[in-house]
Amino acid sequence: MVSCVPCGSYERATVQEAVREALQLCGSFPLNASSTLIKANLLSPSDPSRAVTTHPEILRALSMELFRAGCQDVMIGDNPGYIFRHQEEELFRKTGVAEICKDIPARFGLLSSRGFEEVRPPKAQKLRSFRISSVLMQSPQVIGVSKLKTHVETAMTGAIKNLFGAADTDTRKRAHAPRTRTFLPEAIVDIFSARVPDLFVLDAVEGMEGFGPSHGRAKKVGWVAASTNGLALDYVQSVMMGFSDPFSIPLLSIASKRLEGPGKREDIELKGARWEDLPCKGFERAPSIVSNVPSLLRGAAHHVVTLKPYFNRDTCIRCGVCVKVCPVNAIQATPGGWPVIDHRRCVQCLCCHEMCPTGAMEVRESLVSKLLRKIRRPR
Ligand code: SF4
Ligand code: SF4
Repeated sequence: MVSCVPCGSYERATVQEAVREALQLCGSFPLNASSTLIKANLLSPSDPSRAVTTHPEILRALSMELFRAGCQDVMIGDNPGYIFRHQEEELFRKTGVAEICKDIPARFGLLSSRGFEEVRPPKAQKLRSFRISSVLMQSPQVIGVSKLKTHVETAMTGAIKNLFGAADTDTRKRAHAPRTRTFLPEAIVDIFSARVPDLFVLDAVEGMEGFGPSHGRAKKVGWVAASTNGLALDYVQSVMMGFSDPFSIPLLSIASKRLEGPGKREDIELKGARWEDLPCKGFERAPSIVSNVPSLLRGAAHHVVTLKPYFNRDTCIRCGVCVKVCPVNAIQATPGGWPVIDHRRCVQCLCCHEMCPTGAMEVRESLVSKLLRKIRRPR
């Protein structure tokens, strides 16, 4: 079951009402655990208007519902790219989380604050063992609160991909490094299965289109949604993004095979909306090499089917973030701090693009890739 409630703005009373209704429609989920972790998407220290992060009013409204239901302790947290670890104060200030926690008793913090622990999910396929946040693993109740966004590698990021942020840096790099079409989505499902949240809420009031999850444009979508099933919620999100066949997205088809459904639209009961109400007009998807290129061809096609990163000297601030995040060490810094990309080593994961704070690490798409995108894009 997925509940969808229209929500036209981030005005406090409007969001509070929408979140409450979405939770009520979602069924009798008990919200009164002694302690709850709200796993938000706080990818980077970004202003809420950029739609990079879960909006603070959604987090505030959910926290209020938890307290009303008798929950004693609410923590709002995420584990952004490790480059932002030393910017903890800035992360929570810029995303508006610190501000909303001034007038409600919720606390906030990094998911890395108690370190990471080794896990071996029994059904893991690609990452047989990996390290994931101890805060996440030890929380009695976890609610994932994702943001509707495109993603240049996985087409979309929502409920399932949101948990990827709880893994440690090495795990994330291992997930990004191999050059096959299915490795990353399989690894995302591995991480998700380590601690499946008890409830999922989607902030789709404003989403991100184009070059998500960091450098796209904010786009009004107009919904708050909730479900106890992350895949069902991601299915609904992808319909909002204009996909008529969400299982043409590799992440969702892989999750559908490995998790306990849903396997088709008829398995999802929609509450509060009709399917035809959901698609957002003119929503621009991300160019996604992973979705476009068959696994067998991906290695061979590497030189012609490309989304290559290039840095823009005019907007680069020589921060070195791209050097640190590259999972295959394809970027070195000159003595003056300018990044130099070795495109022969690059596996086109686009982590450097995702994490660049100024958008200076741009992406160029080859002609063949553009063509493939037109004829083989997810439906
Ligand atoms: S390209 Fe971006 S991430 Fe890399 S050094 Fe320049 S500003 Fe920093
Ligand atoms: S250069 Fe950028 S896109 Fe290429 S592998 Fe490194 S982080 Fe990924």
